[in-house]
Amino acid sequence: MTGIVLGAIADDFTGATDLANNLVRCGMRVVQTIGVPAGPLGEEVDAVVVALKSRTIPAAEAVAQSLAALAWLRREGVRQVYFKYCSTFDSTPAGNIGPVTEALMDALDADFTIACPAFPENKRTVFKGYLFAGDGLLSESGMQNHPLTPMTDANLVRVLQAQCRKRVGLIDYATVARGGDAIAARIAALREEGIAIAIVDAISDDDLRRLGPVLADLALVTAGSGIAIGLPAKWGFAPTSRAAQLPPAVGYRAIVSGSCSTATRAQVEAFSATGGASFALDPVALADDPSLAARLLAQAAEALSGGPVLVYSTAAPEAVAAVQKRLGVAAAGSLVEKALAGIARGLVERGVRQLVVAGGETSGAVVQALGVERLRIGTQIDPGVPWCAAHSTVGNATIHLALKSGNFGATDFFAKSFGCLARPSA
Ligand code: ADP
Repeated sequence: MTGIVLGAIADDFTGATDLANNLVRCGMRVVQTIGVPAGPLGEEVDAVVVALKSRTIPAAEAVAQSLAALAWLRREGVRQVYFKYCSTFDSTPAGNIGPVTEALMDALDADFTIACPAFPENKRTVFKGYLFAGDGLLSESGMQNHPLTPMTDANLVRVLQAQCRKRVGLIDYATVARGGDAIAARIAALREEGIAIAIVDAISDDDLRRLGPVLADLALVTAGSGIAIGLPAKWGFAPTSRAAQLPPAVGYRAIVSGSCSTATRAQVEAFSATGGASFALDPVALADDPSLAARLLAQAAEALSGGPVLVYSTAAPEAVAAVQKRLGVAAAGSLVEKALAGIARGLVERGVRQLVVAGGETSGAVVQALGVERLRIGTQIDPGVPWCAAHSTVGNATIHLALKSGNFGATDFFAKSFGCLARPSA
């Protein structure tokens, strides 16, 4: 199939990579852009994912950004549009899932779409319209305490209806289990009733694959990243390693970690424990002496010829709390992000071409500092984290990047990630 088949709009950066990763695993060649590109893509791929940062901004702004992304995707000639949000349906009665969905439907002249955050591989399932995270309801999963998007109701029909003017209904499990014809008949019946958006039950990858062929004909699909595994087959794609092929990896290797999540803390410890060269950035010392970052960069650069180096601000919750108390939460965050992004830039200037970044916000800062505008998605290292190839304006070079959000990846993630990259043939 030629031309871009699927055009996706993702409401955050690491969520976009998660979707792109699933599409690559199904055999599609995928580029992720950071924001809406100014010009044409000019690259032969099967899917493109536009990464926005629209999950928690005011709804009107999220709508405006999403419509700008849609206009660009339509100029690229995509056949189907996919609005990607979080598998925990992160939103409030003000949005942004509902308002963005309705705006995209209106712009596409679509009278029906689905909404399905199910991602069974990551333990997100939907049954009778209720979203489960792990073994419990979303509203008992910890997400009820989220600082920005507290999810206190697991009933997605109710949650989404509160955000929408259009009517919201349900395609329940009894229908999904019966397969394509039953799902198509249910969609026709819902349309008759004037239902415009249907929450869809799904508890296994088999359910997602059964849904795929029916959903592939909709102009718009809205979902987490799970639904994506059912779509490519209908368009003739089958898993192949060619979809994930990136240029061979060259140059020095480094890891920059600003994530303080549990998984990352274990990864930093494991890397240091196995003798990896590690350099800690102390935020309070940095606040007192801004030249600390340059000295750390020089030390790390000197160690590059000996193997991968790690520069990290990763710390335990008590240490983070102490730093935040001293500097303020936002100030500490941006001080560390800026310093790590500057160090990543300096490392690339000194020949690093394979870079692992730990932390969602940290990844955003690093990508910006490297002048990266798009990522070609390659092989998965661990679930949800692929290697990517990107052009960096720093050094005007192709670099390999792995952008890991906090709680992703096995304990040996840092060391093993470099082994997943193809080297130039001798
Ligand atoms: P994650 O994906 O684990 O949430 P992020 O990079 O998104 O990681 O967020 C981590 C935040 O914590 C960033 O803003 C980072 O600058 C900040 N941070 C990192 N290390 C420290 C530290 N030692 N003390 C205080 N804040 C820190």
